[in-house]
Amino acid sequence: MKITIPDNVMRAIGILEQNGYSAYAVGGCVRDSLLGYEPYDWDICTSALPEQTSECFKNFRVIPTGVKHGTITVIIDKPLEITTFRIDGDYLDNRRPSEVSFTRNLQDDLCRRDFTVNAMAISSSGEITDLYGGREDLKAKLIRCVGDAATRFDEDALRIMRALRFAATLGFKIEPETAKAIHEKKQLLENIAAERIQKEFTKMLTGSCRDILSEFSDVIKVFIPEAQTDTDTLQRIAASPAEPMLRLALLFGKTDTQQAFKRLRNLRYDNATVNTVSVMLNSTDDSLSIQRPQLKRLLNKYGEKNSKAVLKYSLHSEKITAEQYGIMIENIEDIITSGECYTLSKLAVNGSDISSLGIFPAKLTGKVLHGLLEQVIDGEAENEKKSLINLAKKLKY
Ligand code: ATP
Ligand code: MG
Repeated sequence: MKITIPDNVMRAIGILEQNGYSAYAVGGCVRDSLLGYEPYDWDICTSALPEQTSECFKNFRVIPTGVKHGTITVIIDKPLEITTFRIDGDYLDNRRPSEVSFTRNLQDDLCRRDFTVNAMAISSSGEITDLYGGREDLKAKLIRCVGDAATRFDEDALRIMRALRFAATLGFKIEPETAKAIHEKKQLLENIAAERIQKEFTKMLTGSCRDILSEFSDVIKVFIPEAQTDTDTLQRIAASPAEPMLRLALLFGKTDTQQAFKRLRNLRYDNATVNTVSVMLNSTDDSLSIQRPQLKRLLNKYGEKNSKAVLKYSLHSEKITAEQYGIMIENIEDIITSGECYTLSKLAVNGSDISSLGIFPAKLTGKVLHGLLEQVIDGEAENEKKSLINLAKKLKY
């Protein structure tokens, strides 16, 4: 397999080499290239110290991204992260090394990396340094820690989540020793910031996560105790599109909506996710129908986006059939494009139209409007001002 290193990355490595330093592309980009995927970004590692790297690129825009950790960003066509070979010091809090020291050695830098498949480097001539059997593990589709797995998770427990995430997104299995250590060390996740866990978990949900959710349900329950990991739920998740909100809702399943809401908040999910998942979970009592009036009531209650989310959740939790779902979505699209009325704001009369009739006490205005809206939704009245006014006049409250 010949890896093509992009021009800007070749250029950066070339500049470092011309200045007498060694430099390689490293980590995810090597892994993804060997898998035949287009890497998301290319990280470079080098023997040059951060100030030496900056000096090499003095004719370029340089951003001191994380100088303390040896990383600077150089803009060559686009931002490239260049990090000095590093040895991590002792880990204090199961997350961050207390200090890092720089090294002139690629080998030292590779051994601090999390998994064998992430611990490979490629030189400008295309030579791959693979000290831990990364290529073999790629072939065998295995996530395996570099070194002793339990020790590596003690150092940094986020690696537990990264292992699950890479396994799901790459469709890999977790090698038995690494898996054993994950089960043993799962409680260390309590020391990891919720947001970091959530980010990895969300990526995991976009992958083929069924087997991982099943094998590591005990780990998932450390941060989502409510997770339903029975076979039926996992089957539904596997059969659903890889959308985090939908899959989260399926995973919470019968969990009380308030409880799920709290959990999602604690995991630092964004408002859109918290709200949409809550709406999905809360919708199980709604009666759904392919009939337009019912769909308009759904639109009235949830708005367009959440109505569609509710229907999708209903489909994947097997409340409605694929055929019903198809018709419902089609009808909703049609209701929206044809501008049919399903909310008070789309009703051809408003509060002041009703109060100026002078026949209803002010406190009944809302009730009258709602009565009219119901009739319009049911197709019993036309959404037209004159006829609605006439109708209102006949209403008895
Ligand atoms: P992607 O960017 O596609 O998510 P990646 O492998 O590039 O995957 P990053 O989080 O960008 O992942 O990290 C880059 C590299 O840094 C990894 O490939 C790995 O070698 C190393 N690395 C990242 N996080 C850790 C960690 N917590 N412990 C050890 N090594 C790590
Ligand atoms: Mg990356």
